Amino acid sequence: MLLGADKTLYVRLAAGGDPVCVGDLARTEISARVGRVPRRITFADGSLFETVDNDAVDLWLKKHGKSGFVHELEHFHPRLIALVVAIFMLAGLIYRYAVPALVEVAVLVTPPAVTQWMASGTLLSLDQAVFDDSKLPDSRQAEIREAFNEVAALSSRGGDGYNLNFRLGGVIGPNAFALPDGTLVITDELIELADGDMDMIIGVLAHEIGHVEREHSLRQLYRAAGMAGLIMLIAGDVGAAGEDILTNGAALMSLSHSRDAENEADRISVELMAKAGRDPRAIGRFFARLEEKLGLDGESSFLSTHPGTTERRQAIDDHARSIGAAVP
Ligand SMILES: [Zn+2]
Repeated sequence: MLLGADKTLYVRLAAGGDPVCVGDLARTEISARVGRVPRRITFADGSLFETVDNDAVDLWLKKHGKSGFVHELEHFHPRLIALVVAIFMLAGLIYRYAVPALVEVAVLVTPPAVTQWMASGTLLSLDQAVFDDSKLPDSRQAEIREAFNEVAALSSRGGDGYNLNFRLGGVIGPNAFALPDGTLVITDELIELADGDMDMIIGVLAHEIGHVEREHSLRQLYRAAGMAGLIMLIAGDVGAAGEDILTNGAALMSLSHSRDAENEADRISVELMAKAGRDPRAIGRFFARLEEKLGLDGESSFLSTHPGTTERRQAIDDHARSIGAAVP
């Protein structure tokens, strides 16, 4: 087979012979090269020429550019798509199976010194950026601390596993949170919102104990780090958000827990409160009060990381009933 010397395609069966097909390159379709499958050249008039001389076709295409480059791209298209799909599937599998497994291992082998270091760094930066000293009278702090210690003593870490801190919340308003080493922070604003209802305050703290017991923050942090690693693997760059998560301890705070983690912490609150002889549904009542006082979107408050839906309060009541606590 011989091909013409300009943009008109002549197919001759022998050198110098009469062309058997003639066509304008622009209006001719040449099938992509796929292994040794014969090439199909379809002319504008519908006539079809097939040849196994793939090299000659490629050489001619390169020379006269139905554009070699575009052609190469077209040629690679199916493989490229397959590659992209494969990468996404792999990333999906890593996200689904490898990251959770690695997170569990990381949580298991993280020495207490590391969680303490993470927590003290986080609290320090929050103290500088957000908090002020608590304005709560010492006697009130002592009262809350005593009630808290009674409940904490019933948890699996025991009372020594926790360190309760009082702060003026400022921009984060009524809030409470736990750091992975058992450092707990409760704001004056939250205590004020509870309006003297000690069960509500202790119920919230028992919920935070739940997050610590089940290592939710640590898991969350490692998961975020794992995601950043995955993004880096694919994109070659973690991006600003990823860097924030990895380097700024305070980002730990903005990571809200999964719905499952929240439900788990709620259940632990119910159980600890019942064990301590306090109202097991206090955490649910607190959510109701938050909604009532702040509306559904309490911006930076406890509510923003703890959506207190009706189902959530129902689940709290149900769990209280299931462990045999008296529910009015
Ligand atoms: Zn929570």
